[in-house]
Amino acid sequence: MTSKVGRKSNTPSITILGAGVAGLSVAYYAKMNGLSFKVYEALNRIGGNCITIKHGDFYFDSGAHRYHDKDSESTRAIKILVNKALRKTRIPSQVYDEGKFLDFPLTPLNLMKNLNFFTFVKATAEMLNSKLGHKKADSSFENFALKMYGRTIAQKFLLNYSEKLWGMPTDKLSPTVSGERLKGLDLLTFLKGKLFGRVGKEQHFEGSFLYPKKGIGTIAEKLGEYCGQNSIRKKAKITRILHDHKRIREVEINGTERIDVNEVISTLPLTDIIGMMEPLPPDEVVKAARGLRFRNVILASFFIKRASITEAATVYFPDRQFPFTRIYEPNKRSASMSPPGKSSLIVEIPCWQEDDIWSMDDNRLLQIIFPYLNRVWNIEWEECIDMSVTRLRYSYPVLKIGFEEKVQKLHDYLNNFDNLMLSGRSGRFVYAWIHDMLRFGREIIDKIR
Ligand SMILES: Cc1cc2nc3c(=O)[nH]c(=O)nc-3n(C[C@H](O)[C@H](O)[C@H](O)COP(=O)(O)OP(=O)(O)OC[C@H]3O[C@@H](n4cnc5c(N)ncnc54)[C@H](O)[C@@H]3O)c2cc1C
Repeated sequence: MTSKVGRKSNTPSITILGAGVAGLSVAYYAKMNGLSFKVYEALNRIGGNCITIKHGDFYFDSGAHRYHDKDSESTRAIKILVNKALRKTRIPSQVYDEGKFLDFPLTPLNLMKNLNFFTFVKATAEMLNSKLGHKKADSSFENFALKMYGRTIAQKFLLNYSEKLWGMPTDKLSPTVSGERLKGLDLLTFLKGKLFGRVGKEQHFEGSFLYPKKGIGTIAEKLGEYCGQNSIRKKAKITRILHDHKRIREVEINGTERIDVNEVISTLPLTDIIGMMEPLPPDEVVKAARGLRFRNVILASFFIKRASITEAATVYFPDRQFPFTRIYEPNKRSASMSPPGKSSLIVEIPCWQEDDIWSMDDNRLLQIIFPYLNRVWNIEWEECIDMSVTRLRYSYPVLKIGFEEKVQKLHDYLNNFDNLMLSGRSGRFVYAWIHDMLRFGREIIDKIR
């Protein structure tokens, strides 16, 4: 609970740092509750990593986004904001394995059809056996996956994939990296897949979702519209956070200007704000922050002279020979994402900031990726109308084993300030989703008002 001691009267009640979905959600509920606020955003646009990018007549999202109806209050807000442009979308995802497209989530029937008989029998026996085994499922993501699915399925579909996504061996990853994705995808759901076909999938993240007609970016746009343009200051990069060890006193913008604050909500990457605190936090806090990392994602986008390419919302590529994790075709989420008769493929390449590929020349990167599209879908260069590269920083907080203690240390330190609260995926260092951002915003405003 934040204190109202020392409130500065001509300063907005709430200063929000960052205009991604998390910052905009705080602003949305502040406005709804009649509280004054101002949002400060470093870039010349809002939406953070949750935007829709226009490329000629094409639109694509900053990564394969879907809105999951997992929090009724958040969904209610999104339905009011996006209104008729929000559609329920039912399209399954697929996994590309040895030249075949398998349904995802996996079903026994699908595996039976696509794996050879002996591999299928072995995988099923391992899965049943692992359920009865005593492997410590919660010690690492690897053990968790082995316990849930047995070696063959886990290795083929989860471990290789996760290593590419998170950039480290899966025995170093916390079981929490699975997020909500594997929830319900246990043996029971797997067997349900056999008995009830796609019923099990409908209940899963990959089954059905809500999606705005003009792309996921509509959510941030509508939140921004509701809050009002004058409440959001763009090109305002927070450079320092000045405090007296009890309260945040001022915030520095663009290295020059200082503003007074009352309540402060930060959605800036948790590790960044530690470096901005003045005076600096104790050494152990700074050290803990250095132990936390974020994974970046590069999007290689190809705009293609074909009406349709895939049959899936997203196609996953667990095989290590592919230098990317997944590909999605935006017009499978909404037909409005590409002009008639044309389509696009967006390839997601997770990487570290210091990897060569992050700073690679765009053309070279596109030349490396394109042959894979040719191999999987026979796409020829002549069909490619245009291409582009988009780089996303702070895409995933890396949930390496032991991350919880480091995060807790930072949270404990920041909780000492009675007018500071955190929100956001990188702001709190949690593997969270759009609906969580709305929920966090609601919970924060409930505490302040
Ligand atoms: C590839 C990918 C796929 C995803 N898929 C889904 C999905 O399918 N469903 C779903 O629900 N969610 C999905 N998400 C997550 C969703 O996009 C996030 O919940 C959301 O982007 C997190 O919002 P945020 O506001 O916490 O952070 P961000 O989007 O990172 O926003 C932070 C904002 O703070 C600004 N900022 C940073 N530093 C400063 C500074 N010093 N001063 C001022 N401003 C600053 C940034 O410019 C940015 O605008 C996905 C994310 C990614 C990356």
